[in-house]
Amino acid sequence: MSQPKYQIITFGCQMNKSDSERLAALLQSIGFAETDKTDSADLVLINTCSVRQTAEDRVWGLLRKLAKIKERKPGLMVGITGCLPGRDKDGAIKKKLPATVDFYFPIHEMVQLPRWIFGLRPELQGPTADLSVGKGEEYADYLKITPSYGNNFQAYIPIQTGCNNFCTYCVVPFARGLEKNRPTADIMSDVRERARAGAVEIILLGQTVNSYQAPDAENFSAHNPFKNHFAALLWEVNQVPGIKRLHFTAPHPREFDDEVIEAMALPAHLNFLHLPVQSGDNEVLRRMNRKHTVEDFEDAIRRVREKIPNIALGTDLIVGFCGETPEQFEKTVKLFQRVKFDMSYHAMYSQRSGTAAAKAFKDDVSPEEKRRRWDVIQELLIKTVLELNQKYVGQSVSVLVERCEEAIHHEKAEKMCYGFSRELKLSRFPGDESLVGKIVDVKINKADKWLLEGEYVQTA
Ligand code: SF4
Repeated sequence: MSQPKYQIITFGCQMNKSDSERLAALLQSIGFAETDKTDSADLVLINTCSVRQTAEDRVWGLLRKLAKIKERKPGLMVGITGCLPGRDKDGAIKKKLPATVDFYFPIHEMVQLPRWIFGLRPELQGPTADLSVGKGEEYADYLKITPSYGNNFQAYIPIQTGCNNFCTYCVVPFARGLEKNRPTADIMSDVRERARAGAVEIILLGQTVNSYQAPDAENFSAHNPFKNHFAALLWEVNQVPGIKRLHFTAPHPREFDDEVIEAMALPAHLNFLHLPVQSGDNEVLRRMNRKHTVEDFEDAIRRVREKIPNIALGTDLIVGFCGETPEQFEKTVKLFQRVKFDMSYHAMYSQRSGTAAAKAFKDDVSPEEKRRRWDVIQELLIKTVLELNQKYVGQSVSVLVERCEEAIHHEKAEKMCYGFSRELKLSRFPGDESLVGKIVDVKINKADKWLLEGEYVQTA
């Protein structure tokens, strides 16, 4: 019998992508091989995102397609995990699922998957399938599974799951539960293992990374200078030989301690901070239960810029939140103009069932007005970033090369290398595959809004 195959389709954030790397490792441990073709898969797993209705709608669309494939291939197994089952506490979503779905589980139950798969398709169980993962205490925490990383030069490493903040619009505390911090020893073991495998970049993941509280603070080095646990963790990662680039997503403005800013100035940290603000109006922030004000946010930005003057900044914004007036939206525009963000992930408010906002407020900004506000921010972002990017022209930027492919360059097809600078600017230059995974200096000669273009100078 040929080797069984799986396909994982991932929606949403880096945390979901990291979870999918653990799902992949688990499936490989029981003898499955990856495929990107649904037609040749024995198992399709959809790792879902519930942040916006559109993300959930895409899952339903996908299920309709899978139902058609299953008609001609009845052995195909389909599973749903991630935010959708995570937030479905009363089983209302489960009741609406088509018969196409065989497995429906919150991500932390992934360790049960081998048992479920072979329960349904016992003939797929080969002699070498390692079923130890689903058994035993050590895997009660799914984060103990060593992921199948996407590449050897960078690694996304979760430091916590869940969130205690209960912003009124957000499903995460329902989908992922309350904040649970990983032991520092586990995180650092992952970092060191990746560094030994050749990783030069580490991205620490969590919902509010700067609220990280180590359950095993005794494992911080004796000479670690920081008391704040997140700052202490950043310091530890900085000490690992080979790690040249470090960043994190996402912090919360309320907890933006000076020690974290100190730690961001250590050598490995990228010259970039993504700090979600959501709105430029204090009354809207209060109704969002953000637990910070516009002033708190700008104070954090001021302190960061004092320490790291050229840092590039990103944020998250929601436009058209319940009751947001045109004047309140204008305050978001003004905040954007004052801070001059290099990147913004802005979204039109999308009501999520079960959240406090859905229960307490009316979703009363029309879709047309939400779209207008989104367009205003988008236009402002493009204008701002185009202006900010000009300062790189004539300068060298340090780029971690992620891929090389044929592209049109100076009106002819050429092999181009792509990667992100330390300011998380997508950059490209003529080069070849031998540079993938390397950190190189690139002299920039053209700056567009989403792309810096230049010439290879040297490998670091
Ligand atoms: S901080 Fe707020 S927006 Fe972020 S995950 Fe927690 S509840 Fe959601």
